Amino acid sequence: MPLNDSSFSNVCMIAVKHSAVDRVSVNRELVESVTYDIIIRGGHVIDPSQSLSAVRDVAIRSGQIAAVAEQVDDGEAAHTIDARGLYVMPGLIDLHMHGYTHSPYGLDPDSLCAAGGVTTMLDAGTAGSYNFEAFRRDGIDACQTHMLALVNLSCIGLIAANLGELLDRRYADPEGVIATLRRHADVAVGVKIRAGAHIIGKGQQGWDNLRDAIRAARDSGTWLMVHIGECPMSIPELCDVLAPGDCITHCFKGGSTRVTDDDGRIFSAVRAAAERGVVFDVGHGFGSFQWEVAEAAIEQGFEPTTISTDLHTKNVHGPVYDMPTTMSKFLLLGVPLERVIEMSTTRPAKVLGREDQIGTLRAGTVADVAVLEKHTGAFLLADSYGQARISSELLTAAATVRRGQILPGGGGLRMRHVAGTAGLE
Ligand SMILES: [Zn+2]
Repeated sequence: MPLNDSSFSNVCMIAVKHSAVDRVSVNRELVESVTYDIIIRGGHVIDPSQSLSAVRDVAIRSGQIAAVAEQVDDGEAAHTIDARGLYVMPGLIDLHMHGYTHSPYGLDPDSLCAAGGVTTMLDAGTAGSYNFEAFRRDGIDACQTHMLALVNLSCIGLIAANLGELLDRRYADPEGVIATLRRHADVAVGVKIRAGAHIIGKGQQGWDNLRDAIRAARDSGTWLMVHIGECPMSIPELCDVLAPGDCITHCFKGGSTRVTDDDGRIFSAVRAAAERGVVFDVGHGFGSFQWEVAEAAIEQGFEPTTISTDLHTKNVHGPVYDMPTTMSKFLLLGVPLERVIEMSTTRPAKVLGREDQIGTLRAGTVADVAVLEKHTGAFLLADSYGQARISSELLTAAATVRRGQILPGGGGLRMRHVAGTAGLE
């Protein structure tokens, strides 16, 4: 059954006709003198950073988490979100997306944030040293979403990615990357290279570009994210030159360069790299997630470190859609919900070195919260290679809170569900 099945629109219709039972209720008399700005009431709170999985209320005040408790006193909030039957978690963190709109790939971060429960996004190298300044001014500083970014080894980033941004070695700019990381240290957190042979060149040229990227990461004291495509080096060779904290994205891609050998077994070099702290990130994308590879990996006990979308203009209308859809694929693969959420919150926060600030609902941290609904039915989940699986579960964002503000979006799903059709006339 397609994702836009009729039960969704039925819910919306009911919601439109019953605005009085909106899940977000406004306590107008108390707006001026409330104890809390928002209470998210009665949801199943899953916060891996506190090993918490239980029904709780979440109270928000002045843009921060004020309390997570079994019962927060009633009637003391300007807004109450009725989250009964929903999952409440730290705002999702997408470790690989493209949010620089002055490239053919960039998407508006704020619309993705509201629609997908993603409050922190890492732009994976859409800009390089020549255009990072503009990205910062027009993108990072201009949006409400918490945006961080990697700096592409190619000085022009992905402005002309279809031409291969490092096929001409003169575009590799490790010194510019280091200077950019220094100048924008509050938002620029690491280095990116897309290591496909049609992007960085074959043989020695490919290796030279990869080594430039590694040097930029080491000399700046940051880390490197490597997009694996049809690489000029094997995955075991690549793993051997990466350090703890570096990241392989598109880790479940198909094609000739995979984390599995010709017999479908996870390479021992891949396991060894994961054990010493190399991050394996999903980066679904429109060419980088294959059901067979993901199924083989999970079956052999090899889970990704982090779940991410690689959302850009070419995949936002399928097969990726958003972060909750990507997370749903891991539920289908048999990963428990708590761990799927950990891979989408606490773990990427740690990769970013910000686990004390984001990916947590601890009191005193920024009030970034995702409220997700788990639907049951039959949902077609496609990979990037034209293969689909039918899942009985689908996660969607019901509400997103960013810095203590309820964002527009997910309205229909925030409404109270009304049994039957009584009262519709
Ligand atoms: Zn990407």
